[in-house]
Amino acid sequence: MYQDKTLTCQDCGSSFVFTAGEQEFYAEKGFDNEPKRCKECRTKRSSQKRNNNNRPRKFDR
Ligand SMILES: [Zn+2]
Repeated sequence: MYQDKTLTCQDCGSSFVFTAGEQEFYAEKGFDNEPKRCKECRTKRSSQKRNNNNRPRKFDR
């Protein structure tokens, strides 16, 4: 069974809850790692990524 966990964000250093539901979701997706960032920082990062990816790259690998 999963239990809510409190983790510390790598980016802003604040603690956030990794909920049981999220842990289940992660396990379903096969993710081994716990999230390292709070939701806010994750949202920030993903929006930054989008901004940096203006040009589609064919050879990304
Ligand atoms: Zn954060």
